[in-house]
Amino acid sequence: MYKRQILVCSSVSPQAVDDDALAAEQLSRLADLARESGVKVAYEALAWGRHVSTYDHAWRIVEAAGHPALGTCLDSFHILSRGSDPKGIADIPGEKIFFLQLADAPLLAMDVLQWSRHYRCFPGQGGFDVAGLVRHVLRTGYDGPLSLEVFNDVFRQADAGPTAVDARRSLLVLQETVGRAPLPDPVVPTGVAFAELVTPDAEPLTALLGSLGFTRTARHRGKPVTLWEQGEARILVNTGPAVRRDGTQLAAIGLESPDPAAAARRAEALLAPVLPRRRAPEDAPLDAVAAPDGTELFFCATGRPGLPDWRADFEDTGPAPDPSGIRRIDHLALTQPWHHFDEAALFHRGVLGLHAQESVDVADPYGLLRSRAVTNADGSVRIALTVGAAPTDETVQAQHIALATDDVVAAACRFREAGGRLLPVPANYYDDLAARFEFADGELETYRDLGILYDRDAHGVFRHCYTRTIGRVFFELVQRDDGYRGYGAANAPVRLAAQHAVRGLTGG
Ligand code: MG
Ligand code: MG
Repeated sequence: MYKRQILVCSSVSPQAVDDDALAAEQLSRLADLARESGVKVAYEALAWGRHVSTYDHAWRIVEAAGHPALGTCLDSFHILSRGSDPKGIADIPGEKIFFLQLADAPLLAMDVLQWSRHYRCFPGQGGFDVAGLVRHVLRTGYDGPLSLEVFNDVFRQADAGPTAVDARRSLLVLQETVGRAPLPDPVVPTGVAFAELVTPDAEPLTALLGSLGFTRTARHRGKPVTLWEQGEARILVNTGPAVRRDGTQLAAIGLESPDPAAAARRAEALLAPVLPRRRAPEDAPLDAVAAPDGTELFFCATGRPGLPDWRADFEDTGPAPDPSGIRRIDHLALTQPWHHFDEAALFHRGVLGLHAQESVDVADPYGLLRSRAVTNADGSVRIALTVGAAPTDETVQAQHIALATDDVVAAACRFREAGGRLLPVPANYYDDLAARFEFADGELETYRDLGILYDRDAHGVFRHCYTRTIGRVFFELVQRDDGYRGYGAANAPVRLAAQHAVRGLTGG
């Protein structure tokens, strides 16, 4: 009988009167008027309402009014931003919940109005348990729409098309989480099969890989792509027409997948663009999708029985690589376009089944960076997603490949002896380290000499150093001991400042 509904928020006026009976009476009169026009009224508590700021208070007023054309509107942001317990939703009859608005948000300590206006994001992209709230609402028998009410500074400026895809992916993951619409199961990647770099000029890149101890082991049969290996670390160097105008960059990641075809089906169900197989008919089939930043993700297998091996497209050119130095790729760091950061975290979590860690802020000479890592359970896949405040700057847009070693001092020495140049680290960094940690005799001097950075968390120790940057890409050597879980975020401002200084000196 109702053709439409209107939402009425709790008053924010400083002149508002704190009188629930009066509010109920006035809402009743409004509902009378609305009903004459076939309209019903949903009353919603704003988190910053003058006197009514919680959902249970709004419901008490609606219940007291007892009008058939008056119900309540629940908004996940208003409920969860105030820390209200959504369990109380069970006390509201489903037919009196007229509307449900959903938004997530990063967990921030700030004024709730500004938080709402600038930081709302799609469910699954922030820190709220939106799915838990939706479960409470569905249990009441509510059968209306799950609507999205999201305001933030990014969406106001971004293209509507990709934002709509992001929104729909968020709802699909949410429906799956609350058990309403099954998707193909996630196939969590079990390792990094390869990282593919495209470059207009292979010479500096292959010289750098050589200094790092990589050996060119194979060449693609049909394309200008070479395979460089060391331990389980594999780098593809592509000089073909796929090369983009802006120089050397990380273009693709091969993810070791227990079931590549099923991984691709899940990705497709979650609206990831499936890429054409850029391969000749005789080549091994490769399932690939595009991540929001355009990075190509290949679902593939390396030497596993029963699955096509992506290396079948390559022919050997060199000896087996020396397994003594680099063991594998520890992590990949991808800078995201400013409007894709939240989308990227949801994509990697939803599509790939990776776990998203909390965001951290990192000070950069150009502004503030936000960084968020996505990982699998055993840490064999780690991807750090970063977004910068100065999107046109090259340093901010840098990508890196971190290579795991059991002895970073030895690896750094070998690299230097092979003609490699490590990023010089300012001397006062080591004065600061000496004040913060205990070191064995000579240990700190070794780090200072090589440019090795040091961090420690509740689990273990992290030592790491960096190569110079080629195009957008640099490499990191990392030694992760005793279950250290981070990425050296405490050292990132030092690294970024050092890279800034090198750019200033070389003008490049
Ligand atoms: Mg709302
Ligand atoms: Mg790193």
